[in-house]
Amino acid sequence: MVAVPTVTGSVDSADLGRVLAHEHVFVLGEEYRQNYQGDWDEDAQVAEAVEELGALPSMGIDTILDPTVLGLGRYLPRVQRVAEQIDLNIVVATGLYTYNEIPFQFHYTGPGLLFDVPEPLTELFLKDLDEGIADTGVRAAFLKCAIEEQGLTAGVERAMRAVGQASAQSGAPITVHTNPHTGSGLVAQRVLAEEGADLSKVVIGHSGDTTDLDYLMRVADAGSYLGMDRFGLDVLLPFEDRVATVLELLRRGYAEKMVLAHDASCFIDWFDPEAKRRVVPRWNFRHISEDVIPALLEGGASEQDIETMLVTNPRAYFEK
Ligand SMILES: [Zn+2]
Repeated sequence: MVAVPTVTGSVDSADLGRVLAHEHVFVLGEEYRQNYQGDWDEDAQVAEAVEELGALPSMGIDTILDPTVLGLGRYLPRVQRVAEQIDLNIVVATGLYTYNEIPFQFHYTGPGLLFDVPEPLTELFLKDLDEGIADTGVRAAFLKCAIEEQGLTAGVERAMRAVGQASAQSGAPITVHTNPHTGSGLVAQRVLAEEGADLSKVVIGHSGDTTDLDYLMRVADAGSYLGMDRFGLDVLLPFEDRVATVLELLRRGYAEKMVLAHDASCFIDWFDPEAKRRVVPRWNFRHISEDVIPALLEGGASEQDIETMLVTNPRAYFEK
């Protein structure tokens, strides 16, 4: 058992309960919001999030892991307002989310750069993990980076290596946004391992977007968890295919290598909210409880399989 920091204080890893391993409370760029989102209503957005996330315990969900980091608009005070009003554990992350470049704040500062200093990203990540995020007193519990179809660009590699170093130094686990169609989970595993990260503490996120079992088994056999974490994003892979892939991996003995989630958000400024509801109507925090678990059980999964993916694996992710 270990103490896992959450937005409202530490929780024993044994008490995390059923965990959705990749969800977002708010994804929004503050600079964009302040300049172009004049209709933003802070109190209404917080109230909506309280209602949506506050309903999860009654649906059997006790904890969400929120990998909203730099690049996705992480802003803890808003998340704190939500977390204080609900019974759900919200576990937050540190790291950097980019598919291409790193932010200008880091362009000229770092090893071998104009201002030649030790990697500032690693230092910021360790600060968030050890001391807390800004002056909120909330500590990050895991690390996040991304690699998309653009591949290992210079910026992606720098962020990923900093995440690997911070994990190696702190022991904190990692979630990586990957694109399984370009095999980028394997690239992430190589780079993170080179920096000393323990691949058994890594979730290769968005693995559930593919039905390529050979690829998925390669990633899992290298020690990492497969993030079957985009249920509801049927536009990227239909519900039936997502469920069938989990069922086949269960049949092949991979229950201990999968975690579940939706990658949903209470608010995201990437899409028009109306269009989002129309195109992906089941992309919400309730879909796994309402539709996915019944479909998995119907398809041959056992209650123990569900427990392993929702409780045992997320707990072990923090305890390793
Ligand atoms: Zn995400």
